[in-house]
Amino acid sequence: MGGNTDPPARQFAAAWRAAADALSDWQHKVSEVTGEALDKLDPAVRAMVEAGRSALTGSWRSCHCPCASAHPDDVGVCDGKAVLTRQLGEADVSLCAPCAVAQGVAEMPR
Ligand SMILES: [Zn+2]
Ligand SMILES: [Zn+2]
Repeated sequence: MGGNTDPPARQFAAAWRAAADALSDWQHKVSEVTGEALDKLDPAVRAMVEAGRSALTGSWRSCHCPCASAHPDDVGVCDGKAVLTRQLGEADVSLCAPCAVAQGVAEMPR
């Protein structure tokens, strides 16, 4: 009963404040936020910033698949509604289910 560890909610709140601070600055140029800027953030915060940025830009959970290069044989399958993220190169890319399947996520090791 020591209470010597922060409850997850408290950690989340602290992380969210950091993200909110970043977002308040980015709101004016949110569409220009680069991966470089995000790389400076803690991964947990970064995930929330990504979510916040998506909400701000109205592209929440939109697919960021580079269809033309990722799955050139199935460019038309993209439905734009991202359901998962996959690491492509050094970036996490939001993918919709059709794109994920087209890229062979089903074949990835679990
Ligand atoms: Zn795609
Ligand atoms: Zn897609």
